[in-house]
Amino acid sequence: MAAAVPGFAQANRAVPKESLPPVLTPWEITPTVNDNAPFPGHKVIGNVYYVGTADYASFLITSAQGHILINPDFEDSVDLIKASVEKLGFQFRDIKILLISHAHGDHCAGLAKAKEMTGAQVMVMDADVPAIEHPPTGRGAYPSVPVSRILHDKDEVTLCGNKLTAYLTPGHTKGNTSWAFQTTEAGKTYNVVVIGSIGVNSASSLVNNAAYPNMVEDYQKSFKVLKALPCDIYLASHGKMYGLNDKYPKLAKGGVNPFIDPTGYKAHIQLLERAFYYKLDWAMRQ
Ligand SMILES: [Zn+2]
Repeated sequence: MAAAVPGFAQANRAVPKESLPPVLTPWEITPTVNDNAPFPGHKVIGNVYYVGTADYASFLITSAQGHILINPDFEDSVDLIKASVEKLGFQFRDIKILLISHAHGDHCAGLAKAKEMTGAQVMVMDADVPAIEHPPTGRGAYPSVPVSRILHDKDEVTLCGNKLTAYLTPGHTKGNTSWAFQTTEAGKTYNVVVIGSIGVNSASSLVNNAAYPNMVEDYQKSFKVLKALPCDIYLASHGKMYGLNDKYPKLAKGGVNPFIDPTGYKAHIQLLERAFYYKLDWAMRQ
């Protein structure tokens, strides 16, 4: 995995003479604005629906016995999510299971409110449980919520024919989770991956990080895990990370579902991996 990045075979090797050239993601070059604005709810494929805001992505996976919601986003996103769920013809109160990509406020702050409105079970990856039950105070604070089920790497969450596997893809947070499952449409089965974030928010956090000493190794593990997953449709915790704004308008045109994008999946991981090594290289030179 690391060998794919010239000059950086291992994170802890000597820093090479030449700096790695900058690798920036499109959303670092042109940040989106008004991420929490309403966005049209829509069917992605099969029984998978987008119910998030302009950029904070939320997904509803439906069944005859209730639904799973991935990412309730911010507290003030929850009413927008509820409106999208109901416009698509489902009941918000039928949500039985609440999941998250990771314990950062833009994906998990709405958990307490969504739980109160639905009575759903909150299921969180083990290493992110402390941040959900005892959230940060001050900047980045959000309400605490008791976790109903603690998940471990590759645990399955099932509901009426749906089986979601929780892949631990740590680095961005210690319990960052990527969700893999299958859905069917027109007699065809598709592999769906909702990638937990694999972006590095702060390059300086990669080195000498007392709170998270093995962050670099965790990112490396996550790239490896994600590369090995079969994927036809990739989704993510932010719309911009899977091209929501490009793909959504194409849905209305009919034809091939724009969300079927196995090449885009590989390209996303490769881009984020290169960005990671650029940031690591930068951090080691400071
Ligand atoms: Zn995050």
